[in-house]
Amino acid sequence: MKKIIVFILIASSFFSFAQENAKKMKPSETELWQPKVPVVVPGKNNTAPSDAIILFDGTNLDQWVNAKDETPANWHLNADGSMTVKDKAGDIKTKQKFGNVQLHIEWKSPEEVQGKSQSRANSGVLLQSRYEIQVLDNNNNDTYVNGQVASVYKQSIPLVNASVSTGDWNTYDIIFHQPEFDENGHVIKKATITVLHNGVLVQDHFTIQGTTSFIGYPEYEKHGKASLKLQDHRDNSRVSYRNIWVRELE
Ligand code: MG
Repeated sequence: MKKIIVFILIASSFFSFAQENAKKMKPSETELWQPKVPVVVPGKNNTAPSDAIILFDGTNLDQWVNAKDETPANWHLNADGSMTVKDKAGDIKTKQKFGNVQLHIEWKSPEEVQGKSQSRANSGVLLQSRYEIQVLDNNNNDTYVNGQVASVYKQSIPLVNASVSTGDWNTYDIIFHQPEFDENGHVIKKATITVLHNGVLVQDHFTIQGTTSFIGYPEYEKHGKASLKLQDHRDNSRVSYRNIWVRELE
């Protein structure tokens, strides 16, 4: 008991000494002036910020290829500046490969409702072609909650369902940090993901457990930078996308 009292007395006198010392400091002693912060011009009227890489601005699919054979992407390019999954065309992916990113992407389900559960406007945003954020029309459409809209598919239930009405445009703003591996292929730092759905936090720095898996549990496999992939769920889920950009994060 004596030892504890002595420790408390020493600790409290050290704390008050540090406080007294801090009071003698000038405000300028805790100001940092270097390094200078880069300037980014933010987007206006739903355009990308000045340092973003534009992956789709509605004019062409030049940044995209079919995921399977890397031939030019052949999803529908629409007059309104969007693209739509073409039936049975397969997934598409970016030509460019990415590591850590901030991603902005907008999507909408068809106005005409078709199918139910996982077959209603199912698509997906796959970071590094592996880690899927689910795209699904969940309005009056029950499904398993770890596979619903804005889930990290089969890994993390979204905090809320922030969907707009069926047929209206949704936004995802995603911050993703890629996993790190040692030379033996073992994961030494797992990937993390934060997702805002229509500006609402739905995934809060979730630690991804491995490659998205439809059957069984997720596991990591060693990889480097990789393409962003968009899913064709192959059930005539005609989901549309527009205004896709990334900012690479160091
Ligand atoms: Mg999906």
